[in-house]
Amino acid sequence: MADTPHILLLAGTFEARNLAQLLKEALPEARIIASFAGAVSSLPDLGVETRVGGFGGAEGLAAFLETNAVDLVIDATHPFAAQMSTNAVKACGMTETPIIRLERPPWREEDGDHWMGFADLNAAAEAIPAGARAFLAVGRKDIGCFTHRTDVFALARMIERPDTPLPQHWQLHLDRPSSNIEDETALLEEHGIDHLVAKNSGGPRASAKLVAARRLGVPVLMIDRPELPPAPVATTIDEVLTFSLRSVG
Ligand code: NAP
Repeated sequence: MADTPHILLLAGTFEARNLAQLLKEALPEARIIASFAGAVSSLPDLGVETRVGGFGGAEGLAAFLETNAVDLVIDATHPFAAQMSTNAVKACGMTETPIIRLERPPWREEDGDHWMGFADLNAAAEAIPAGARAFLAVGRKDIGCFTHRTDVFALARMIERPDTPLPQHWQLHLDRPSSNIEDETALLEEHGIDHLVAKNSGGPRASAKLVAARRLGVPVLMIDRPELPPAPVATTIDEVLTFSLRSVG
């Protein structure tokens, strides 16, 4: 390892923002590079060196790790960013770079919930009953799996406008998920929503919609997480910090 430890933080989540700050404080001498896919146009300032855009697959990432003498990769991407997480494991294997993946625990069904689980977006899209009024809490990259369902009304919420055109009678709601249960309940009520489609992202920041659905008795079509290749996993930011300090501190 070089004198200055070098950490690559694969970002794109709220946890990555916190981690960047905490890593900087815990390892002031380290070079920390946060990496974004560039999926959204306004990126948060993580207060560390930042790069934007893909690496060019696992091989491209392996080359990046070697060129930049990276000592540790922290995969703090979203649980559904399966391609990036898979590439990270492969690239770290090729270059023998230590890796830790931050995996927030998935949401679990609670009393009063009516969940149906689906392996992927397409399966959930097929399961929405004809004539339903669905709230699609999926991303702009995912919405194309649903747009053929012109037999339902959908309120589609995402952060940025999708490339895919939506059926004319659907409503696009450009916003981040709210963490306020009252706001999420009001949104569901206002649009007469009778089915909620969500990805099992986990974490407290986007769970208010699930509480709203529980309150209103709205069934949830829950998309299970994609499977990821085995890697050392932490479920909290603190665990990642401990691992990082042990690896490069
Ligand atoms: P993905 O399908 O796993 O990745 C597609 C490609 O985008 C990757 O192969 C990689 O390109 C590039 N990429 C992804 N994350 C990157 C990162 N942090 N830094 C540099 N390149 C990255 O990922 P995704 O689902 O499109 O998500 C993209 C970003 O949005 C991720 O950072 C993720 O954390 C964030 N995000 C995703 C979701 C979601 O539901 N999927 C939700 C919230 C936030 P190359 O192969 O060229 O390296």
